[in-house]
Amino acid sequence: MSPQHHPSDDILTAYVAGALEPGFGLVVAAHVELCAHCRARVGAFEAVSGAALEALPQETVDEGSLSKVLARLDMRPEPAAAIDRRPFVERLTLKRKKWVAPGVWVAGVETPHAPENRVYLLSVASGGLTARHEHSGAEFCTVLSGAYRDEFGVFAAGDFAAAETDLNHQPVVMGEEACLCLFATEGRLKARGLLGRLAFAYADV
Ligand SMILES: [Zn+2]
Repeated sequence: MSPQHHPSDDILTAYVAGALEPGFGLVVAAHVELCAHCRARVGAFEAVSGAALEALPQETVDEGSLSKVLARLDMRPEPAAAIDRRPFVERLTLKRKKWVAPGVWVAGVETPHAPENRVYLLSVASGGLTARHEHSGAEFCTVLSGAYRDEFGVFAAGDFAAAETDLNHQPVVMGEEACLCLFATEGRLKARGLLGRLAFAYADV
């Protein structure tokens, strides 16, 4: 099934412009790779920003603009022959996998160009509960496999979720398969309730 939950146009526009923190961009990239709908949106936004660049009067293209354009070109997909076809998760460089509860592990993702970004994989086994937690900053999440449910609906492979500050929720894993999610967070998670200890373990990654 194709993804049902997508990044907003604001997020996709920022992604195309290279304006997202790299860790957050990585989570959006994971979704875009799995979502034909958003790949088309990204293509449309790129076409618009390309046309806008071409329409710029010559005299406004100063040194700074040129380096911005070159930086953007660096971010463009590589030629088809050079594309790494492995599944997204296998292309991530992971730090040590840590078991934080029965059936629950977490592993930090290396983001060498943005070491202050907090990106991690979280795997929760079937029937598992994640910790009820509050966010002290924004969080992006793309489900890579399995599915979870929370008050916003069911999130299966490819689905994207953006949580705002002060959201307090407790997703529940659905189905037989472990739910594997890629997260980027800013700020620390604040633990709530009995399972709060787990949230601290996640925040430690
Ligand atoms: Zn999408």
